[in-house]
Amino acid sequence: MSIVQKVLIIGGGIGGLTAAIALKRKGIDAEVIEQNPAWSVYGVGIIQPSNLLRALRSLDLGDACLEQGKGFLGWNFCDVQGNVLAQVPSENVAGPGYPPVNGISRPALHKILTDATLAQGTHVRLGVTATAFEERKEGVRVSFSDGTQNTYDLVIGADGAYSKTRAQLFGDECRPHYTGQAVWRYNFARPRDMHWGSLHYGKKSKAGLVPLSETTMYLFLVTAEAGNPRMLADQLHVLLRERLAEYGGIVGGLRDQITDPAAVVYRPMEVLMMPAPWYRGRVVLIGDAAHSGTPHLAEGAAMAIEDSVVLAELLAQDPDLKSALNRFVLRRLPRTQLVYETGVRLGEWEQAEWAGTPDPAADHGALFSRAYAQLMGPI
Ligand SMILES: Cc1cc2nc3c(=O)[nH]c(=O)nc-3n(C[C@H](O)[C@H](O)[C@H](O)COP(=O)(O)OP(=O)(O)OC[C@H]3O[C@@H](n4cnc5c(N)ncnc54)[C@H](O)[C@@H]3O)c2cc1C
Repeated sequence: MSIVQKVLIIGGGIGGLTAAIALKRKGIDAEVIEQNPAWSVYGVGIIQPSNLLRALRSLDLGDACLEQGKGFLGWNFCDVQGNVLAQVPSENVAGPGYPPVNGISRPALHKILTDATLAQGTHVRLGVTATAFEERKEGVRVSFSDGTQNTYDLVIGADGAYSKTRAQLFGDECRPHYTGQAVWRYNFARPRDMHWGSLHYGKKSKAGLVPLSETTMYLFLVTAEAGNPRMLADQLHVLLRERLAEYGGIVGGLRDQITDPAAVVYRPMEVLMMPAPWYRGRVVLIGDAAHSGTPHLAEGAAMAIEDSVVLAELLAQDPDLKSALNRFVLRRLPRTQLVYETGVRLGEWEQAEWAGTPDPAADHGALFSRAYAQLMGPI
């Protein structure tokens, strides 16, 4: 029997829900609290690389993602006019019958995870947060925003990049910082013959197209936005169209279809890498709460899901909680740090290039390939 039997998970997102599912498979019950009373996610897409699919498949959630998403073979690297310069197939480490990459909408992934969590009988409380933790001999006493209290063997802080759990445990100085780049996203109808994702290199930005389902795809655009400006919500469509002005080909052809400011999802890249340990007493951080990188490798969700799989495995194995948490952090640090450092470096190189002062040492392809080769290795 595991050293922990009663677990609280703070945050009902990708990390928190996969943790609840992974723990249940090891015979450990968890409750989830989620601050968003609607338990909703925004409507764009997520790229699922093969190590993410491998982790989800180990939780029996991979097939549902393939059914709801659109598998594809790898990436076309294109110039600003959409001419394909190179076609690079991605590796499949998820096993037979799986595509190397899957694109899926965030709401579809969220539904798969919430359905699985509720179906296994996990108790989920919405509109609730944790307000205080008190370490006691018998466990950690948690006070909740609805006035209730309870005691747990372990608390998992899976409350994302702006984690209040992290601030409560480690103080406010551990918080994300802006990298100078931002991402714009918008959904479109998918051309029937689109079987690859594509990356399009402009002089001042980088665009990408990602299949999401049989009928949809999404566009992302990475730009440099000095000073992290606040974008006017009702102008987001105009601002995105302006930033796409230099693109021809398929991306340029989509520009005029960007008409709804509410459908543009704009996110500044804000990053944080927690040093070890990611826990205090009986409270441990996973996912973006512990390591929130840039989306350059599209590996953030993968890291959160892998955290869940590894944490559940170690909690089920190790008769000592502190040892299990130490082993968890030691095992997860190298991979999450690799994602963090590679993303930050790629972002710096892109910004230098767009500013007309390219770093002579920059080798995007080599860095990208080295990182992926490691990430496709065992967790
Ligand atoms: C622009 C962009 C593009 C990305 N694209 C990809 C991609 O293509 N592929 C990929 O793998 N990753 C991608 N990511 C990263 C990915 O979205 C994150 O790494 C992933 O969502 C992390 O999961 P999480 O559960 O740790 O955090 P989140 O998904 O942020 O979930 C946290 C949850 O906790 C809840 N919460 C917050 N505070 C509290 C609180 N105090 N109490 C209770 N609940 C709380 C939130 O409401 C939320 O439900 C991208 C990120 C960005 C910004």
